[in-house]
Parts: sequence; structure tokens; C-alpha cells
Amino acid sequence: MDFAAQVKASVDIVGVVGEYVRLKRVGSTHSYSGLCPFHTEKTPSFRVHANHQFFKCFGCGQGGDVFKFVQEIERISFYEALKQLAERSGIPLPKRSEYADADTKLRAGIYQMHELAEEAFRAGLKGSGGAEARAYLAKRGVGAAEIELFGLGYAERTGHFLANLLQKHDFPADQMEQSGLVMRREGGGLFDRFRNRLMFPIHNESGKVIGFGGRALQENDQPKYMNSPETPIYRKSYVLYNLHRAKEGIRKEDRVVLVEGYMDVIGVYTSGVKEVVASCGTALTTQQVQAMKRHSGRIVVNFDPDPAGANATEKSLQSLLEEGMHVRVLELEGGLDPDEYCKERGADQYREALGAAKNYFYWLADRARSKYDMKNAEGRVAAFQFLLPAIHRLTDKIERSAVAGDVAGYLGVDSGLVLENFRKAAIDRREKTLAAPPEPIRHDEKILLNLFLSSEEARAKLIPELKTLAAVEQFATRRIFQALFALHDSGAPFGLTELDARLEEADRSRLASIALAGDQQEEDYSIQLGVACLEKLKRQTVEAQISALKASIKEAERAGKSTEALRLYEELHSFEKSRRAGGVQ
Ligand SMILES: [Zn+2]
Repeated sequence: MDFAAQVKASVDIVGVVGEYVRLKRVGSTHSYSGLCPFHTEKTPSFRVHANHQFFKCFGCGQGGDVFKFVQEIERISFYEALKQLAERSGIPLPKRSEYADADTKLRAGIYQMHELAEEAFRAGLKGSGGAEARAYLAKRGVGAAEIELFGLGYAERTGHFLANLLQKHDFPADQMEQSGLVMRREGGGLFDRFRNRLMFPIHNESGKVIGFGGRALQENDQPKYMNSPETPIYRKSYVLYNLHRAKEGIRKEDRVVLVEGYMDVIGVYTSGVKEVVASCGTALTTQQVQAMKRHSGRIVVNFDPDPAGANATEKSLQSLLEEGMHVRVLELEGGLDPDEYCKERGADQYREALGAAKNYFYWLADRARSKYDMKNAEGRVAAFQFLLPAIHRLTDKIERSAVAGDVAGYLGVDSGLVLENFRKAAIDRREKTLAAPPEPIRHDEKILLNLFLSSEEARAKLIPELKTLAAVEQFATRRIFQALFALHDSGAPFGLTELDARLEEADRSRLASIALAGDQQEEDYSIQLGVACLEKLKRQTVEAQISALKASIKEAERAGKSTEALRLYEELHSFEKSRRAGGVQ
């Protein structure tokens, strides 16, 4: 078995996918369903199959084996996915690796530099240079355990501390620059990007350090927060701070708590509310929302209570609503930020506040109330219109009109106006028309395909004869069967992944719909059932041949070719004789 096959055999795709997507078993089958992590959807069209070790989305078409899944979700190369899964099951990697290309090697180098940097920053915080940073953390009530857990560190002020360290480890200069950890002086050497800053490592969803956020320790050091730039391993718009730690809590509580900064995350998380994340200093992107949504569709946004926080909330909400998240907004009393609140009032009270957080629309309605004169009708209508774009962004029709009615009532706006507005909007928002119905797949095809995918014995017993039958040519799935026969004949490893790889897109989704979306268990497809199918197909093939012969005879007679007609008669006769003799029942 080659190394990739060995790794694949030791991991379960359901477990791997399950770390990124909430999966539900479909009845008592080996199939699991969930919301697709690769496109936006409200009803699950994403399937993972335990026996076939295969995933497929019937919405966007994405599909494949466990390597493909990890590659797509982490946006890494095949080699990196292989390495990640090997590490996960404790299989040592072969020393010489034929899979690694230049990009992969570059990324591996950058990961390594980040590990070294994290270690150096941690040590820096403990050293003499880190006194100021330690004092700041102490003032904010961050203890030794939190420092350890969040990997906090300190970047020395000298400007060549990390650059020297990386040089000592023989990283090429251009790789060092691409890591974002160091920069090049004009016409000169390399120097550290982060100097005299408190350092927060930023991780990807599988827990690897991919970047840093650095907080200035001097008042006049700008910016106050500085983040790693985009690098081959750090794409800001995809990353949420703390998601790798929070995802378990998010699922357990079925809720995400979104706060503004690193310190808020640390304060809230250590108080015991584990489902907390932050965007890394950017307005919330669609990709970040999708990353949260894979774990829960419900979110409480708890930004700072200042005007900047309110504006950030308003902006983030757009992408949250577009992705169909159920959004509530929490404003803490007393003008406290989440970190301060947890320290002053404790986790229980913070939980209570989270539970009582207002639905987003009431929060926005309150914003509108303070912006417009609510004493007269025009003001109330203006306030309602301020809210309308957000309401229209709701993807669910029923929810949309329910929310509109509620908000209109809350603002004291005439419900006739609401209805009028929504009638207009409904015309603009036609439901997507469905594609033309595909060629129907017969029951026989489904039985045989499922049987062949699950039973080597069935393949050996039935394929040689099935191959010769003309009836297969009439299948909607004929190209799948042809590929299956070819794969079987080649003697290569046989599985859904291998078969899928031989097909064009349309057939791939056909195959997945048969193998993954069925509500039957493989055990239901017995060899006896397969034999019965084969017999039926044989009969059909013979009957088709007979009617073709009969048609040819008629044709020959009409054309006056009596010798030809006679020859065909004889052929037909022997055909029918052999059928009666039991060659074919
Ligand atoms: Zn999809």
C-alpha cells in the first residue's frame, strides 16, 4: 500500500469533516448530511459517506475523498493535506517526499518560521525586555495560565532579534521576507516587523500559528494594533481569532459570540464562555461568516459600546444576514467592554446578558429611533426605511415578512406601507428556476452501482457478463458503467473516489446522487438482487435483439431482398430456440 493509501485507511472522513461541519446521520444509513462549507446554503445538500469515504455537495458539486476535503477547506496542497492527516493519526512521514512542490516547501518554511517566532516571543515575554508587556498584562488581569494558553509573547525592541534568529536557522532571505515576519530596509538588510509589542499568535482552524497581532506598548506607537500582512499561509479574510479553540464550545452552545479584540477574547474565554471569537482587525468577511456558520448558525455580536463599535456592528451585520445567520446584538450596561464585564460581573452574569441579547432588528430599530424624529409619521417612515435594506437581506421569505411586521409595529409604522413595500420587492426577487429534469435513472442501475461499489464479490461475479449486454447502453448512467468496467479491468484499487476521478462533472453528481444520497443501506443490496437485475437485463437485451431482427426482416421483405430476409429468419429462429432452451430464461 502506498503512503497516501495507508494514511487514508487510518482516518475516517466522517470524523475529519465533522471537525469543520456539523453532520447529522441520515436515518440508519452510512450517509451524513450537513450545510456545505464550500457554498452558502440554508438546507443541507452536503453529504459524507462513511463506507465510501467520500463527500459530495449536490448544491455546488464539490466532492472527493478526505484529502480533497482537507485541501479545499484549508486551502492547502495535496502534500500538506497528506501531512496533516498523517500527523493526526500518528503515522510518520517518509523522509524523502516526492509530493512537495516549490509552493508547498515555501509554506512549510513559513510555518516553521512562525513556530520559531512564537517560541522566541514567549521567551521574550519572560525575559528582561518583557517587563513592560508583563506589567500591561497584569494591569488587564491576565495571569500566567492565560499567557500560556494563548501563547502570548513579546517582540524585542532591537529590530533585528527575529531576523537574526531566522538567519541562524538558514532560511533564505526571500523566504523570510515572504513570511511577513521581517521586512527589508531600503537598499539594506532585514529587520523585524514587530518591535516592542505584546504579541498574540493567530492560528488557523487546525491550530497552527499562521500570523501575529502585535499591540503597541507605548502610547505614541502607531498603529495601536498591527497584524501580519497577507502571506502564503495567512489570508486575513478567512481567519477568525480563536476559532480553533472555540469551535467545540460553539457547537455545544450552538452559538458564536463575536467580540472586537484579542483581549476581549481572552477575557471572555477564560471566564468560561468558550464560544468566543474575534475578526482579526478587519470588517467581517463572507468567508469568516461561513467559517462560523459551519459550527453554528446563531451569533451574538458583542462589540465595544462606543460609536466605533456600533458602526463596526452595523457593518458586520450585513455579511452575517446575507449568509442567513440568526443574529442578536448585545450592548453591555455601564459602558463596559466584554473583557471588563466578565472581570467585574463574572461569567454567569455575562451568560445571562448573552441570553437576553436583542434580536438584531430591535437593536437597529433603536439606532433608527435615535436618528429620526419619531414624533411624526414622516420620521417613523424614514426610520423604517433605514431598516428596510437589512430586512431585505434576510434570505428567508417568511422570516422576512414576519420581521418587517414586527419592526413596523415597534416603530409605530402603518402595516399597509410594509405590505406595499414587500409586494414590490417580491417581484424583484423571483425564486431561481429549476434546471431541466435529468434523464431518469432506473432502479436496476442504482442497485448495480451500489452493489459494485460495496462488494468485490459482486464485481467479480457480475461484471464480465454485464459488460457484454447491450442494455447497458440504454442506461442514463452508461458512462459511469463504462468507467466502472474499465476501472475493474485495470486491476487498480476500486472505490468511489477512483471511479469519480474517471468521470466528467455531470456523471460525477449522478454517481454521487446514487451512492451517497440514497436512503438505503448497502446491506440492502445483496448479490441475489444483483443477479436478478442481470437476468432481467439479459432478457431485455435479447428482446431488443429480437425486435431489431424482426424490423430488419420487414425491411428486407419490403425491399424484395428475399435471400437476406430468409437468412434473418433463420437467425431469429435460432435465437428464439436458444431462449426457450433456457440459455436465457
Ligand atoms: Zn456546496
